[in-house]
Amino acid sequence: MNIESRKKALKFLYQRVVDPLGYKFSPDKDLVDFLLEQEVKLKQKHGIPFCPCQGLSKDREENMRIVCPCIPFHREHFDAMKRCWCGLFVHKDVTNSDELKQIPVHEIKK
Ligand code: SF4
Repeated sequence: MNIESRKKALKFLYQRVVDPLGYKFSPDKDLVDFLLEQEVKLKQKHGIPFCPCQGLSKDREENMRIVCPCIPFHREHFDAMKRCWCGLFVHKDVTNSDELKQIPVHEIKK
């Protein structure tokens, strides 16, 4: 399977996972394409599609919390931003993802 087919397969799977969570793919198609490509590469390297914008640690349990889509593990944080940390997914009502900013988790839990 080439990289485009792998991206398509991830997209198909993710769509079904995030939809019931109230999320959709970002309207920013270039960003989606770029992030999915990074995930395909991470999957090829580690066997698991880890998050492309959160660093892996040596703690396997911690790493399992950043397997995409990691929304269930960071629900409060992502819901407050209306996007996931990378911006691959946004709340379904979002039309302009450029307006959504990353907010560190410690600022949300104040
Ligand atoms: S932050 Fe977004 S892209 Fe990264 S693993 Fe979580 S859901 Fe996937």
